[in-house]
Amino acid sequence: METKLNAITMELYNKQIQTCTDRELYYALLTFVKKQMGEKKIISGPKKVYYISAEFLIGKLLSNNLINLKLYDEVADVLKKNGKSLAAIEEIEPEPSLGNGGLGRLAACFLDSMATLGIPGDGIGLNYHFGLFKQVFKDHKQTAEKNDWIASKSWLHDTDISYEVAFGDRKVKSRLYDIDIIGYDNGLNKLHLFDIETVDESLVKDGIDFDKEAIEKNLTLFLYPDDSDEAGNLLRIYQQYFMVSSGAQMILEDVKSKGIDLHKLGDHVSIQINDTHPTMVIPELIRLLTLKEGFSFKEAAEVVSRTCAYTNHTILAEALEKWPLSYLEKVVPQLVPIIKELDRLVVRKYRDERVWIIDEDDRVHMAHIDIHYGYSINGVAALHTEILKKSELKPFYDIYPGKFNNKTNGITFRRWLMSCNRELSEEITELIGEGWKKDADELKKLLEYKDDTTVLDKIAAIKKDKKLELAAYIKEKEGVAIDPESIFDIQIKRMHEYKRQQMNALYIIHKYLEIKSGKKPLRPMTFIFGAKAAPAYVIAQDIIHLILVLQEIINNDPQASAYIKLVMVENYNVSYAERLIPACDISEQISLASKEASGTGNMKFMLNGAVTLGTMDGANVEICDLVGRDNIYVFGEDSDTVIKHYEKADYVSRDYYKKSKVIKEAVDFIVSKEALKVGDKENLERLYNELLNKDWFMTLLDLEDYIKVKDQAFADYEDTDTWRKKMLVNIAGAGFFSSDRTIAEYDRDIWHTR
Ligand SMILES: *Cc1c(COP(=O)(O)O)cnc(C)c1O
Repeated sequence: METKLNAITMELYNKQIQTCTDRELYYALLTFVKKQMGEKKIISGPKKVYYISAEFLIGKLLSNNLINLKLYDEVADVLKKNGKSLAAIEEIEPEPSLGNGGLGRLAACFLDSMATLGIPGDGIGLNYHFGLFKQVFKDHKQTAEKNDWIASKSWLHDTDISYEVAFGDRKVKSRLYDIDIIGYDNGLNKLHLFDIETVDESLVKDGIDFDKEAIEKNLTLFLYPDDSDEAGNLLRIYQQYFMVSSGAQMILEDVKSKGIDLHKLGDHVSIQINDTHPTMVIPELIRLLTLKEGFSFKEAAEVVSRTCAYTNHTILAEALEKWPLSYLEKVVPQLVPIIKELDRLVVRKYRDERVWIIDEDDRVHMAHIDIHYGYSINGVAALHTEILKKSELKPFYDIYPGKFNNKTNGITFRRWLMSCNRELSEEITELIGEGWKKDADELKKLLEYKDDTTVLDKIAAIKKDKKLELAAYIKEKEGVAIDPESIFDIQIKRMHEYKRQQMNALYIIHKYLEIKSGKKPLRPMTFIFGAKAAPAYVIAQDIIHLILVLQEIINNDPQASAYIKLVMVENYNVSYAERLIPACDISEQISLASKEASGTGNMKFMLNGAVTLGTMDGANVEICDLVGRDNIYVFGEDSDTVIKHYEKADYVSRDYYKKSKVIKEAVDFIVSKEALKVGDKENLERLYNELLNKDWFMTLLDLEDYIKVKDQAFADYEDTDTWRKKMLVNIAGAGFFSSDRTIAEYDRDIWHTR
């Protein structure tokens, strides 16, 4: 190993390892790891999966690839011997910025698990040059900058594969870049990222503004550009079609090159459509098969329907894509007759207008295309799938009961334990052996140690170390000193009203007011947030503003800051998550019941020994089943109650405000003199009014119960022995949430690759 690495540094820099800079060593390791991966076999078989997704939030790859090659320890040792630190070298790698949040991260975990299980499964996506924006706080507000992550030396492989994609008369050329995906102790799959040859980065001037009309130059600049206006929406459709057309051409080419009869496409290929963004792959494949391969429409539609499967990720109405037909006519006129024909066939068969593809306002319901013309539709947690069947997609479930199935999400334990928490990972291996790394269910064996104080002490000591590491990192990055002896309460996820960061903020206000009135908590508390908000989502920006204002007020108040610290970390991403999650005591999963399809952050925290404080929503329900009520803090109304409130439209937030002194005081603080001295009147008043007059996601409905249960969790933390047991039970119960389990289920029920 040492000789190999030295040979590379000599060749690249004419230097020995000891005298290289961290940056030089990063490039040397990149060369080394790519070479090692190049020697692995490409996973193949009679059937292949294409996971097509607008997002792949893959995170940094160096340490992950080393782990999956089983070379991490050896490389770390060689570097250490030469006075270098692998951790410091990892810092050099830029994080690819190809996703927003959970949906994109799920796609990345799935790639890891498909390769690990030896399932032939490639990703298809886009190579956004500036990805999702980089978040910078200025004057207690979020600003957006471009995220320039692509370096000349990176994990991307150039290829000479290129396709023509037509938007009506406008034609562009796609260019394929590949990233190798190495399975844990297994072979290689690929992530295929399409780019446009004529992209022009100089189009981006200030922040993330650019000319949205110049498709030939801007198509792959950003992930989900601001879609608050028509140009932004059109650009999204351009991006989606560019992705699926390139992908469809690649898939058909590959199948034909293997001499497979395209009529048997579904026997050799499954295309998993990750949410509705890639839906146009269905009409596009039909177009290609009829136009280029001599299929009749009926034949093509049948073949495609046996090939495509759809994953639903949300029941938020505003997130289910409905494109105006006029937009599609502008961007992809060649698909419009196909979509109209697909709709006509549905209308002919079903009287119920709710299942039609094109509605009376001439909007195309993308999910409806997937459901009618795909062979499987799955939700992403047990509760979510039940809600789809019982209410959101009931008319479809009545038609196609056999197509519906559940696949509870998962996370890869390679990244979310072995890589981000080596100490805990090694301790687990010491206790129960290596088997859990390939069969996560074996984590259950940890339960044997539930009453073993030596083991519990060890786990608590690891948590303490991780808190110290995080405190040092936050001091350096955010300039805020936090106390490792305090309880770390963490909420990190995209900023959205349904996730209810505003409820957490109201709790913090409540605590602050208690302390100011002389009621001191038993132990200091640290509240940590991390979240980006969509640039056009006004109320989400206001919530960020409130949190940053509270951070300023509380941290600078000598009386309060002795007991509470608040920090919102800047530019929350995968790398930050990897530092935050191992250090967490209380995991905030407080979405309004029925609104969070699954959540995967909740699983990462549990695996790292945090205790969940959450509603009975998404996969929290399954966490509760796995660990039992003694090892999770549950509060709030359940999904049935919430769904009824929506049906009857009988929730009035102001009633809760009037009824409760605690709620009123907390909400009023948002527009108090104290807050307005630091914050912006317009933002704070708008948020205050929203909470009082709309509160669409029912913050005030659950606030009192939230305060009660959260106070209880903080009190219980003082019972050290019991708390440590809760930590262990959570780790031991997390095996179910391995994405290896999820992927094995996709393969067993949907893909059938073997
Ligand atoms: C896991 C993850 C998410 C998803 O978090 P949820 O709490 O499930 O919404 C979002 N962003 C990043 C960076 C993640 O790693």
